[in-house]
Amino acid sequence: MARVWNGTEVAVDPVLSMSVAVIGYGNQGRAQALNLRERGVRVSIGNVDDGYADQARADGFSVLPIASAGEQADLILYLLPDEVQPAVYREQLAPVLHRGQVLSFASGYNITYGFIQPAQDLDLIMVAPRMIGRGVLDLPREGRGFPVLVGVEKDVSGRALEVAVALAGAIGAAFPGGCIVESSFREEATIDLFSEHTWAAATVYLLKTCCEMLIDAGVSPEAAILETYASGELGEIGKAMAELGLVGQMRLHSHTSQYGQLLWGDRWLAAGARQLMREALEKIQDGSFAEAWHREQEEGLEEFRHRWGELLETDLFTKEEALYRRLGRVASRQAEPTKTPER
Ligand code: NDP
Repeated sequence: MARVWNGTEVAVDPVLSMSVAVIGYGNQGRAQALNLRERGVRVSIGNVDDGYADQARADGFSVLPIASAGEQADLILYLLPDEVQPAVYREQLAPVLHRGQVLSFASGYNITYGFIQPAQDLDLIMVAPRMIGRGVLDLPREGRGFPVLVGVEKDVSGRALEVAVALAGAIGAAFPGGCIVESSFREEATIDLFSEHTWAAATVYLLKTCCEMLIDAGVSPEAAILETYASGELGEIGKAMAELGLVGQMRLHSHTSQYGQLLWGDRWLAAGARQLMREALEKIQDGSFAEAWHREQEEGLEEFRHRWGELLETDLFTKEEALYRRLGRVASRQAEPTKTPER
């Protein structure tokens, strides 16, 4: 079993005495910087001088170029998107980081697959929230925590784990409902990719196919889309899973629903799902997914864009657009694309 820390057993003191640079002021960067400052930690921001930097200044932080912020801090939280981290590290951080500093990642990806190879004399830790940035910011304000995985890849000071646990506590993980779990860069990268390639991918494509089948069978697009995902019921079921357990939440559904789920659930696995999951895990563990994604970025993201285009062209998203317009929501086709690494 992994070691787990929560509540008052988490000492945040080791981080209170450190100067912290948060590199990147996006989803995680802004949330973690604000939470750390709330706990009394000295924080500066390293960012390109643009909109995110303006936001950081409006929040009352001093903003420095990435290299200057990294050079001056005891603890560096490297919170850029995973795809841009290697180049920025190579060009701006590697020349200035030095012995005695702690470099922290919120994801195990770049270290696990060797896209970043930091100098031998840095402490290398991971503090990876299992929570989107908005939750990292909002939950501690309500006195609630969230789960965080911590790991140590290199421990030059002999205090790396202590600092990782303290940092997780200082960003708010240890409040009631949260916990800090000992893990590793490799384990985090594996489970993160595995979730994305299995249930997250399957859910989107399965829900899409369910909608298409219902509409083909004569159901109105409005009823089909609302029933399948637009009502928000799926989110409520997700919350109930966290509170009552994966199948404990099934007790909240009608007996008819429970019977149907018990009757059909296993049959989906029989249809090759287990074999596909095994294949996905192998490609994560042997590095071939990371290699393919790296190649895709180097070659200009042609397949990435093609697959997005193909998905959005589906007729279902014309119907979704009409329904969402009436409901005043942002439909799939209007959702703004995230910035891609080559921008
Ligand atoms: P974001 O996409 O929100 O990061 C945006 C920040 O990165 C901005 O400050 C932006 O500044 C900067 N940035 C983007 N591109 C560049 C570039 N080419 N050069 C310099 N700066 C750049 O990242 P997230 O917060 O989503 O992710 C950060 C880390 O946290 C990742 O390791 C991720 O895996 C991890 N994580 C994310 C979670 C999430 O829910 N989002 C959950 C748990 C972990 P600008 O555009 O001004 O240059």
